[in-house]
Amino acid sequence: MKANFMGPYIESECIKDKMTTRRVFRFRLYPSLEQEKRIFHIIETCRRLWNDALSHRRNRWEKEKSSTSYNMQQWILTGERKRDPELCELYSQVAQDVLHRLDNAFKSFFDHISKHPRFKPFRQDGSFTYPQAYNGSVYLDGGQIHFSKVGDVPIVIHRQAPVDGKLKICTVRREACGEWYAILVYETDELLPAQKEIFESPIGIDVGLKSIITTSDGQKIEPPEFLRKAEKRLRRLQRSLSRKQKGSRNREKARHLVAVQHAKVARQRSNFNHVLSARIVRAHDLVIMEDLRIKNMVRNRHLAKSIHDAAWYQLRAFIDYKEKRGGGLMHPVEPAYGTQACNACGARNHILLSQRTFKCDSCNHEQDRDVNAANNYLQKGLKELGQDMPEVTPVEIQPPFPVITPGASRAHETGTVRGGYASSEAHRL
Ligand SMILES: [Zn+2]
Repeated sequence: MKANFMGPYIESECIKDKMTTRRVFRFRLYPSLEQEKRIFHIIETCRRLWNDALSHRRNRWEKEKSSTSYNMQQWILTGERKRDPELCELYSQVAQDVLHRLDNAFKSFFDHISKHPRFKPFRQDGSFTYPQAYNGSVYLDGGQIHFSKVGDVPIVIHRQAPVDGKLKICTVRREACGEWYAILVYETDELLPAQKEIFESPIGIDVGLKSIITTSDGQKIEPPEFLRKAEKRLRRLQRSLSRKQKGSRNREKARHLVAVQHAKVARQRSNFNHVLSARIVRAHDLVIMEDLRIKNMVRNRHLAKSIHDAAWYQLRAFIDYKEKRGGGLMHPVEPAYGTQACNACGARNHILLSQRTFKCDSCNHEQDRDVNAANNYLQKGLKELGQDMPEVTPVEIQPPFPVITPGASRAHETGTVRGGYASSEAHRL
């Protein structure tokens, strides 16, 4: 999983009969020029190692028809490290992790999950991982984080990491816009509360382009103006980039502008999704959403669409982990006939894409198209969970949905609570 602009992500898992919870944090790094060079060099060496290991596997297969195991490559690596000064500069487990990643890439290729692993060309963004960060290769020390073979890099800890947590994995990542991040995975013994048996305030959600979400109780959330503007600017910059000549200085400048704007949109989007998901989860212990994977089997190459896809996945992931934190549940349902079925009588109608209002031919039920869909998901989800719709919806927390200013994320980062709903909301998340 690419932990891109994710908040603290929680996941419980069972390791040898012992339940542990994993939490992921993403902190900004401010390496010096000297350190930046060194980290860049590590990323480049890892890329070369990936390409070498990949061609080694390919050659063995093409010439000798024999497959290559992780252990074999790992054994070769140990020898190579003695001869190659650049490989020797890599922390040993960082190098092993590259071979692990390659091995996993091949495994999912053989399992028909993904395509054949490819050679990596030079890129502006990249990362490498310390797989056992607790063994002293990585540790926090005041305002700095120590990376083995790199040194002490200034870090901004904008959020409290678990005190009793064990630092498991650390990934150092450079974004295309030039920002550096450390992604830290902690493991703690704290248990997530058990899932509720009966949910008191379920809600159905339909996702869309014009309204980001529509809920079964009739609320529509439009994308905020600042986000629409930022996305519009991103599209304009992207068009400008595609017109620039390959390899020219102007193209490089345009690429940087696109990368910076991309990062900005992603941050604003993530902040908005955090506030929105927190609001939903606080009012509803069961959230039923359409399963986006199925929805997205119909691929659309349009850029705007792909941005929205990513945003929906993120919102869903945020709702999911926030529900788990309180014993609630995010339940995905298959979206089949979501828009076509009538939520009053169940009859299937033919509703055109352009039709904004749903009108049932059998029972004359009339409703907003998306609200009808959200109600269908709600009914379907409750049925799958074997639960009835509670008679009364107990909490009606419905002030207009969050008005988030772009500045709110900043307040969030520095930990100061500013006046206004949005920033204090963000602070409590
Ligand atoms: Zn009907």
